Amino acid sequence: MQRDTKQKRAILKVLTGTRSHPTAEWIYNEVRNEIPNISLGTVYRNLRLMADAGDILELDMCGAVSRFDARRDNHYHFRCERCGEVCDVDEPVHQELDEKVAKVTGFTVSYHKLVFVGLCRECPGTPISKS
Ligand SMILES: [Zn+2]
Ligand SMILES: [Zn+2]
Repeated sequence: MQRDTKQKRAILKVLTGTRSHPTAEWIYNEVRNEIPNISLGTVYRNLRLMADAGDILELDMCGAVSRFDARRDNHYHFRCERCGEVCDVDEPVHQELDEKVAKVTGFTVSYHKLVFVGLCRECPGTPISKS
């Protein structure tokens, strides 16, 4: 569908233009500059479709709202538990972990996803204590 393609293109443009791993809501606000009458539901639907198609990554933030990433290769992330900032971690994916887990469990491992959690450079102080 023509309209869907235009929406997808606008969403992808917003997503490739940022390194902040934005939420759907943030993307929605940016895309509205280009398509003022687009709805949040439409943005969500397109993000899902694009994630299913493998065009983008949907990052599962363990209970927090999903983030989206235009970088499609497997890579690690860091999430600040104070400000919520999500960024890429410059560390190669440890493929040997997959083999190790496959050996221990007998499962077939396709890949693993990793999110480091802590405090970013802008959020100094003591880590938030787990209750
Ligand atoms: Zn922070
Ligand atoms: Zn990323």
